[in-house]
Amino acid sequence: MPTLLWFRNDLRLHDHQPLDEALRAGQPILPLYCFDPRQFGQTAFGFPKTGAYRAQFLLESVADLRRSLQTLGSDLVIWVGQPEEVIPELVKAHGIDTVYWHEEVTSEELQVEQTLESKLAAMGCATEVYWGATLYHPDNLPFDIGRLPEVFTQFRKKVEHHSTVDVALPTPKKMPPLPPVDLGEMPTLADFGLEPPLPDRRAVLTFAGGETAGLARLHHYVWEADCLRRYKETRNGMVGADYSSKLSAWLALGCLSPRKVYKTVQAYEAERIRNDSTYWLIFELLWRDYFRFVGAKHGDRIFYPSGLRGLLIDWQQDWPRFDAWREGKTGFPLVDANMRELACSGFMSNRGRQNVASFLTKNLGIDWRMGAEWFESLLIDYDPCSNYGNWNYTAGVGNDARGFRYFNIPKQAKDYDPEGRYVKHWLPELSDVPAAKVHQPWTLQPVEQKRFGVTVGVDYPRPVVNLSKSVQANETIYNAARKIG
Ligand SMILES: Cc1cc2nc3c(=O)[nH]c(=O)nc-3n(C[C@H](O)[C@H](O)[C@H](O)COP(=O)(O)OP(=O)(O)OC[C@H]3O[C@@H](n4cnc5c(N)ncnc54)[C@H](O)[C@@H]3O)c2cc1C
Repeated sequence: MPTLLWFRNDLRLHDHQPLDEALRAGQPILPLYCFDPRQFGQTAFGFPKTGAYRAQFLLESVADLRRSLQTLGSDLVIWVGQPEEVIPELVKAHGIDTVYWHEEVTSEELQVEQTLESKLAAMGCATEVYWGATLYHPDNLPFDIGRLPEVFTQFRKKVEHHSTVDVALPTPKKMPPLPPVDLGEMPTLADFGLEPPLPDRRAVLTFAGGETAGLARLHHYVWEADCLRRYKETRNGMVGADYSSKLSAWLALGCLSPRKVYKTVQAYEAERIRNDSTYWLIFELLWRDYFRFVGAKHGDRIFYPSGLRGLLIDWQQDWPRFDAWREGKTGFPLVDANMRELACSGFMSNRGRQNVASFLTKNLGIDWRMGAEWFESLLIDYDPCSNYGNWNYTAGVGNDARGFRYFNIPKQAKDYDPEGRYVKHWLPELSDVPAAKVHQPWTLQPVEQKRFGVTVGVDYPRPVVNLSKSVQANETIYNAARKIG
């Protein structure tokens, strides 16, 4: 009897336990990907749930998976529809006895899984569900997920001392032939009401979706460009392809497994160098693991306005100011450049994300969920646990948030963009302003504005807020928050 392998956010053939187990069962395998129309709906604040950048990356990733399966003698069945409807239909039509997949942790995905499981159980079809999104398997953690430490450092120390990373599974060499089946058509962006995103030559990288491109990026970053040896010193950069690994999008869609990255780092350490930088890439993967486990432990609380800490803060839903933020028109170049990079490329550095999230919540006092949903819509590397986990943290409602902490935008600009290279890259209207003044265009005298070809209030906006006063006002609001739960 054939089995069905349901691909989700695991669009790869390497290190794929459901695939490995299905192959062991020795039956014909029907590999399936379902484009779920609900993923192309709207967020609560009305943004496209999957914007064009990620949608394109997803289409490319699915196409790449199909090609790879074809090379191994199989193929990928592609349907547009709700998995809990599509899969039982295929099970019935093909007499399938077992369905294999990777589990997820957030509520929308879990609901789909639960409905599917009960439908399949009623049909007498077995399910085999595996965990595959993190570096550390939950079975190898020194605690149950319910006892996950609320502070990252405690989690990290325990895991580093007591847990091991399982070996990444190899890519299969061959697949059993596909039973006769309608393979379905690859949808297009237009099918989801989306326009192809315009390429922007200023983007850090052209993110091509799929396992093939993900493995190539890993190889380039680690081996060819030899960047890993300096990752710890460069990771806070904002300009160029190689200040950080840029693996996040491939990790988010599962085109790369974190264990594959780990294995590559180990090989690099054995062959070239082992130092703080090689450790630090794994350290960052631990943050990713942590947010996934936090999502598994706390469920929907990561999406609540009160966050993991249960803090009822008087957030504003101030649309004019929110629009200024998302369009990159706040009058603060570091914030604006980052927001324009996101809008024009679907990517932003970690340094940028921390700054713009802090500015939205600690200077503008705007509901952090609006920012999180905007990121959800635009980010190529969107991952619900990493996105909402980081937003919880930056908004001060995360589980280990230590009171009201904020990013001092001028200081951040001075520390991380001292020459103004980054802001000039994304804000051409400031390109002639000298480095010493480019982060404070509002201080330019009329004569300087003339000399540098920018009229503040016309070519570039005046600040929407006073930085120090707004921080003080929002700290008062934060401190007045009521704790619930
Ligand atoms: C407000 C906010 C929202 C974010 N939303 C997302 C998101 O939706 N998806 C996402 O993958 N990352 C998110 N991040 C984390 C981080 O910014 C990105 O993972 C990183 O910028 C991606 O670039 P990179 O692959 O070059 O990272 P590198 O610096 O090369 O790090 C290597 C990998 O470690 C992981 N990682 C690094 N930092 C973090 C972190 N803080 N949290 C979780 N994982 C991390 C990523 O998988 C990344 O690819 C967010 C951070 C903030 C502050």
